[in-house]
Amino acid sequence: MGLESNFPIGMQRHFISRTSYLFNTTTTTTTTNFSKSIQKLNLHHATPNTLTFLKKSRFHSGNPIKPSSNSRKSLPIKTISSIAAVSLAASYYYSSSANADSEKVVEIASAPMSAFSNSTSTGTIAELMDDDNRAAMKAKSTPELLLGLFVYKLCTLPWIVDAAPHLIKLAETLHLQAPVYWFVKNTFFSQFCGGETAEECVATMTRLSQSGINCILDLSVEADLHMDELSHSKKEETGKYWRQEQKADVILEMIKNCLKTAATGQHEEYATSGAFAAVKVTAFAPPELLLRLNQVIMYLDQAFEMYQINGQVDSTCLNHVVNKICPTPQSELQHQQRSQILSHLQENQGTLDYIEFTKLFNLRGAGREVWWETDQGKTEKEVFLTCDDLQAYDRMVDRLEQVCQLAHDVRVGIMVDAEQSYFQEAIDHVAMNLQEKYNRRDDTDHSPTVYNTYQMYTKAAQKKLERDVDRANRNNFSFAAKLVRGAYMVSERKRADQMKYPSPIHETLEDTHESYNNGVRFLLKRLHQYQDSTGHALTATTAPIVFMVASHNRESTILTVEEMEKHHVLPRSGVVHFGQLFGMQDQISYTLGKNGYSIYKYLPYGMIDEVIPYLLRRAQENSAVLGGVSKERTLMWQEVKDRFSDAAGVVHAPLENSSTIEYGLAVDVNSNGTTSDGTETA
Ligand SMILES: Cc1cc2nc3c(=O)[nH]c(=O)nc-3n(C[C@H](O)[C@H](O)[C@H](O)COP(=O)(O)OP(=O)(O)OC[C@H]3O[C@@H](n4cnc5c(N)ncnc54)[C@H](O)[C@@H]3O)c2cc1C
Repeated sequence: MGLESNFPIGMQRHFISRTSYLFNTTTTTTTTNFSKSIQKLNLHHATPNTLTFLKKSRFHSGNPIKPSSNSRKSLPIKTISSIAAVSLAASYYYSSSANADSEKVVEIASAPMSAFSNSTSTGTIAELMDDDNRAAMKAKSTPELLLGLFVYKLCTLPWIVDAAPHLIKLAETLHLQAPVYWFVKNTFFSQFCGGETAEECVATMTRLSQSGINCILDLSVEADLHMDELSHSKKEETGKYWRQEQKADVILEMIKNCLKTAATGQHEEYATSGAFAAVKVTAFAPPELLLRLNQVIMYLDQAFEMYQINGQVDSTCLNHVVNKICPTPQSELQHQQRSQILSHLQENQGTLDYIEFTKLFNLRGAGREVWWETDQGKTEKEVFLTCDDLQAYDRMVDRLEQVCQLAHDVRVGIMVDAEQSYFQEAIDHVAMNLQEKYNRRDDTDHSPTVYNTYQMYTKAAQKKLERDVDRANRNNFSFAAKLVRGAYMVSERKRADQMKYPSPIHETLEDTHESYNNGVRFLLKRLHQYQDSTGHALTATTAPIVFMVASHNRESTILTVEEMEKHHVLPRSGVVHFGQLFGMQDQISYTLGKNGYSIYKYLPYGMIDEVIPYLLRRAQENSAVLGGVSKERTLMWQEVKDRFSDAAGVVHAPLENSSTIEYGLAVDVNSNGTTSDGTETA
């Protein structure tokens, strides 16, 4: 059989692709006096002397927040100098007060979870909608706020974001990467990553857990790994994919370490459920193999769609698959087995629905030898999956099963990331098989281990979601999902355009929003139906569906909180989680954590040179998301100013839970509107 293989050029370069999430804010602040002053201060530990200094310097009266005027046309020299000043100040301050501040954060945030659990959905929604809610800012140290301000400011400068990849490349060529890496490490890396190793992330995990936030550890390895040449025998063992498979084996060990660290770093006394680790299937297999596998699955899907009548196909469809997609039988036995199945179906006028059809042709299923075994001599031009492909596929599954087994043993969840559409069918296939094995519903001692990701920006997402829920239900495993909008829109559309096929992505953002929100509604409705029909309470171990709303979108977050209330899903049941990226949309994360919802931060880590592509893409590809950060910057800036003002004893506008009296002494206000000594406040 002749095959036209049209795999996209450059796929081999794709090793571990990354999601990307961005930054772009629209306000700027002039901070000259302020930045000069903060070099001399440690606000949380201000002594009487520093307070005197603050009063004298009067920096607190500082400069109002002004709308941004930045543009691509000119280099804003004033802005550069101001951010450089903040950078230096922040850097100095950060290093000088790191220890003291970490102690302070522990002290502030070490409230037990019970303190968070009296909240109502209405209260949570009110806090989420409150544009002046500073829950996240209050939980952060001043150095963290300064760092965030500086990094977000950089992200508002398109010329920096555009030039950054070239500058880094140039520095590397000239062997001047040390200062560049130092800068990146102290800015973007600190803002968006947990550390260079999994162990380094533990401090951040601990800090977040004290605000009711858990973590999804995400090993970030994009650059080529440095590895010794394989021995000749090993090369022969692993065939044509030996180099990528060698990388996959190295990553396997790194992920195992990640899981062990995630297990030891989790703080169940604060968090609603255990830690997770993110996994990219493309890290465990040669990209070319995944492309080939993807193509086979797509052809199977197309065959089903072409022949289905009311969602059922008969032996005609199977004949088509056998003749067009499966390899020619390599033995008489294989031929007979196929004929038996086909004639049985034909004689009994049997039909298969989509779930039965995919099960029949599943590469890990009972029919593997019947449909897919092929002759060693067959080449890529003759069969879709060669003998080498099948063996490499088995090794990939074996690696992933090692990961899932360990995760299951140490009670850490696995989040299988979604990637580009030309890999996604293969990823879904692998993830569903892993779920079937590691999310068994009869294993009542365990909450589901494996979560797959659904990119709701695709037109096919809703149908896929519904089918997979049914598949899980029918095969008695828990459906565990992470719902995202999707991070590859630009490249997906471009590829579809170049290769002349319809874009898989919704045409408008509104359609994507609708698809996302409908996905949330659908899953919660199914949970409600389960509760109604069984009378069972929903918990992470008993619910047939668990899922994560992985989004920075406030409307989707609020919708989920509302729908959870409507369908009686408790915030702390561990059935619905929320997820945001570390360093992004903290006001949503901290508000949910404070109110006892199960909330996670994606926490990437890796060596600085390996994480740079990830950080760059976040800046470059997803700048649209940053619209929401302008508000975050404003709040950060207000919080920093207030801390300085408080330290200086200056009167400022009242905050949500505190009031100021003359001479600037802050007084706590109780929920009933009285001060701690019972005085009524206005
Ligand atoms: C915890 C977490 C895990 C993630 N994991 C993955 C993953 O595994 N795989 C993955 O692909 N992504 C992943 N993402 C990224 C995610 O897919 C989004 O890119 C990102 O979160 C922005 O979407 P949002 O839900 O936060 O919504 P918003 O903040 O509302 O952002 C909406 C964005 O959606 C994009 N968009 C989508 N569809 C359209 C359309 N039709 N027209 C115009 N714009 C459109 C635009 O860029 C827009 O800015 C993850 C995100 C988080 C927070």
